[in-house]
Amino acid sequence: TPRSATMREFKKSSKLDNVLYDVRGPVVDEAARLEKEGQRILKLNIGNPAPFGFRTPDEVIQDMRHQLPECEGYSDSRGLFSARKAIMQYAQLKHIPNVDMDGIYTGNGVSELIQLCMQALLDNGDEILIPAPDYPLWTACATLAGGTPVHYICDEQSDWFPDLADMESKITPRTKALVIINPNNPTGALYPREVLEQIVELARRHDLMIFSDEIYDRLVMDGLEHISIASLAPDLPCVTFSGLSKSHMIAGYRIGWMIFSGNMSCAKDFLLGINMLSNMRLCSNVPAQSIVQTALGGHQSVNNYIIPGGRIYEQREYIYNALNSIDGITAVKPKAAFYIFPKIDVKKFNITNDEQFALDLLHQKKILITRGGGFNWGEPDHFRIVYLPRIEVLSEAMRDLEEFLSTYRQ
Ligand code: PLP
Repeated sequence: TPRSATMREFKKSSKLDNVLYDVRGPVVDEAARLEKEGQRILKLNIGNPAPFGFRTPDEVIQDMRHQLPECEGYSDSRGLFSARKAIMQYAQLKHIPNVDMDGIYTGNGVSELIQLCMQALLDNGDEILIPAPDYPLWTACATLAGGTPVHYICDEQSDWFPDLADMESKITPRTKALVIINPNNPTGALYPREVLEQIVELARRHDLMIFSDEIYDRLVMDGLEHISIASLAPDLPCVTFSGLSKSHMIAGYRIGWMIFSGNMSCAKDFLLGINMLSNMRLCSNVPAQSIVQTALGGHQSVNNYIIPGGRIYEQREYIYNALNSIDGITAVKPKAAFYIFPKIDVKKFNITNDEQFALDLLHQKKILITRGGGFNWGEPDHFRIVYLPRIEVLSEAMRDLEEFLSTYRQ
């Protein structure tokens, strides 16, 4: 039917004007178009373990099968008692202080809870410190909530740890909170105790709430220990996020949680806001909540992947060495998660636009990576690789990348 000249045009809300979420952005759309044409695309862009052959422990599946008939109704808005009890125990194992059952919320992934917290905390123009590079949902949710994300630099020269001086220089009277992502996506960094203590000290000095996204806390390599920043800040309001998407390879089930800890007496009103938004979404997916207890308390199959001989560990060794042997590429060794964030020598390749770089690689070699700008990184000199595919696949990709770069000039 022809459009009538008077018919109105439906535009997206202007609230979305400054929202960026490039992990599933234009380059991914172009890859989907090529796939529809019948081309095979090598996807190094999604942090979704199951399609790459990583399995959750059988007992988790069995448990859900067993519990499914009991999960037909809504649960308590915060979540099932059994799930929150198990998360409480997990918080105790991580030495997170002053947690009670009412301070634990399950969500449809950490994603939902990030959005909920940003909506509940930020007034128009309130500032929140977010790392660059970041997992872009944080910036997107802060923006959508009317807040102003202010990015502090993580320093590649110091293993991608937050640059404390930069962080402090960006604090203003409107800064309400700071976010850390530890272990980090996209850099794979893991923050040591000294760095976390300095961040706490800074938050203490400037009266900031701490949000810590720890969804990769059970994917730590090289015998290192993950420390929850909340365990170092009993006197500050802290929110710790984690879930089963990555540690149990069940990103599709949608289950995550957040834990309020430390001194929440100064955040009572914020908690009322959280409660209201939590009630409004009724509850998170109940079948997925029903397996939290078994998943957290049972066999941790992820441990076999992150030790020498395990897939994630060996793939990390491979990708780190392969990238660093390519002329014009350097990369810091990731300590955790399954991402690497290499640097490209932009002068050598004359790169000024990282989206174009990602598109050119896609068109010429059918390899899909995510540009650094997708993680709110300000320069066109980085990209992210997800090293979940097997070494045979990664090595084909690295051969192609090297060949591509040998003649590439933008
Ligand atoms: N936080 C980080 C740092 C992530 O990398 C991801 C997913 O990639 C999420 C949160 C979202 O996880 P969920 O599946 O729990 O929503």
